[in-house]
Amino acid sequence: MSAINLTERAQQRAAMARLRKRYNRRQPYGDYLTSADWAERRAEILRRADHRCELCGATGVPLDVHHLTYERRGDERYADLKAICRACHTQVHHQEGK
Ligand SMILES: [Zn+2]
Ligand SMILES: [Zn+2]
Repeated sequence: MSAINLTERAQQRAAMARLRKRYNRRQPYGDYLTSADWAERRAEILRRADHRCELCGATGVPLDVHHLTYERRGDERYADLKAICRACHTQVHHQEGK
């Protein structure tokens, strides 16, 4: 019986994760940026970058997580995101004209 419960719970969790992904994609971007999902992903990217700007290598500065693409917004792959400092971030968006 407990084995069945475990399976059910795993299935429930998977279903929840799917729902959350779908919800993340649909919710306004501002809301997504305050979600726990984004906080987790963001922390992961900063860790990957070793808290260093992935463009200019600056350390000890506030880092933003920049989207290289919004194609998978709400379910980004790590390759879609970059940890960069404010100065680089401003420049990147300036160049993109965004
Ligand atoms: Zn930088
Ligand atoms: Zn950006």
